[in-house]
Amino acid sequence: MWVGYLAVVAAVAGLYYLVPLLGSVGPAAQTVTYAIVIWSSVGALLVGVYRNRPTRKGPWLLLAAGQLVTASADLMFDVYHFLLETTADVTPADPLYLAAYPLYAAGLLLLVRYRTPGWNAPSMIDAAIIAISAGLLSWVFLISPSAHADDLSPLARAVMVTYPVMDLLLLAVASRLMLGAGVRPPAFRLLSGGLVLLLVVDAVYGVQQVLGVYEDGNYLDAGWMFVGALLGAAALHPSMPRLTEHSPAAGPDATAGRLTVLAVAALLAPATLLGQYLRHAPMHVPLATASCMAMFLLVIARMAAMVRVQRQMAITDALTGLRTRRFLQQALRSEAARTHRADFSVGLLLIDVDHFKRVNDTYGHHGGDRVLCEIAHRLRSLVRPGDVVARYGGEEFAVLLPHAGDADIVAIGERIRRGMATAPIAVDGETLITVTVSIGASILPGHVLTTDDLTLTADRALYAAKEAGRNRLVTSQRDSSA
Ligand code: GH3
Ligand code: MG
Ligand code: MG
Repeated sequence: MWVGYLAVVAAVAGLYYLVPLLGSVGPAAQTVTYAIVIWSSVGALLVGVYRNRPTRKGPWLLLAAGQLVTASADLMFDVYHFLLETTADVTPADPLYLAAYPLYAAGLLLLVRYRTPGWNAPSMIDAAIIAISAGLLSWVFLISPSAHADDLSPLARAVMVTYPVMDLLLLAVASRLMLGAGVRPPAFRLLSGGLVLLLVVDAVYGVQQVLGVYEDGNYLDAGWMFVGALLGAAALHPSMPRLTEHSPAAGPDATAGRLTVLAVAALLAPATLLGQYLRHAPMHVPLATASCMAMFLLVIARMAAMVRVQRQMAITDALTGLRTRRFLQQALRSEAARTHRADFSVGLLLIDVDHFKRVNDTYGHHGGDRVLCEIAHRLRSLVRPGDVVARYGGEEFAVLLPHAGDADIVAIGERIRRGMATAPIAVDGETLITVTVSIGASILPGHVLTTDDLTLTADRALYAAKEAGRNRLVTSQRDSSA
């Protein structure tokens, strides 16, 4: 259906450029053709909502409202220019055209909120870099020249300035949508295509206005027609309900494409300054430098955030969110160093799930993963604050217990063993299984001398626990005294 709709719009847009050949009825026919396309996009958006039944309709209804206001503005424009033959610079069509932008922006903002609730600093920063860069260009080439157009009334100047400002508002929200996390099904691409096209066509229109070369009915009309067509097609596409799905991804990756876009955006500001200098045009030095400085700071903030994420990833297990083995070993070394300085001991528990292969064999790898996550969750709640819980290997976990004596270690180890064995785990929607663990415990400096020995003796104790029949705790002390 969406392909059909795009094809029909393409055909009608072709007609739009052919009907002037009809002679005297040409302009009227052209007006009607254009109106058909724009109103059809309102219809397509509503039909899309009706047919695809998204659970969250708000964004689409706001986009439809925006298109409706745009279509009404076109109608108003036609009434004033063709029926009333006005020569005024500003007509009631202008506030209507302008009113459509906050509606589009609100729709996109809602879409962003659904896709990535929360702050999501990286994509905010990326969008801000693009908005600042576009803001400077818009100021230099559109807003400032419009504000100083002496041949226009103050009202006309105000209106002409407001158009690029509204485009900037839309650009900021659209960048945040396109640069943020979330699924990108075909409907997303159609919507993004429509937004990019709208911003490009509006920008060309603005430049043509400033240069005084714009003519009604030029190729830009095809652009606006296709904007409506793309928005409508996005709503009609069957993948449309997925656009409002919540994305679990933390933040966007720094892909080559993204870095290119950001680099171009950041370089445009100094390039504009240079260009204006070379052609002896107004340089807007304070604004240009302020833009450059703001973008530098944003790039540095973005870098700092990326480094933080990378660091966090190196010490966090992707499946369970526990610490990694590498983190545990570092913590072990620093805790061991403390045992030399003070009367301080540190315990280590190595925990291996019993017969875990059976879980995998019966419920699949996915079921196994769910069990591992639940075990991790329980481990976290069964240890003391400040203890380090790590995923040591596939289905092996380790707990580092600073300041723990023999009795503490046995108590915590037993608590963990019982915490696993006594409450069954949901392996899928309906199945509960009981999972047990075997635990090897060791203590420094009580039983052993080096951190390597600590791991080794805990491992031996774990092996002994397996040998003795599983679902039990063996401490290296008992192991060595045996
Ligand atoms: P036992 O320890 O009681 O001797 O028996 P076991 O069946 O648990 O034996 P072992 O500890 O050697 O088994 C490890 C199994 O854990 C093998 C592998 O398929 C599974 N495994 C390792 N990592 C993962 C993982 O990330 N996800 C899932 N689902 N399974 C994993
Ligand atoms: Mg194992
Ligand atoms: Mg095992």
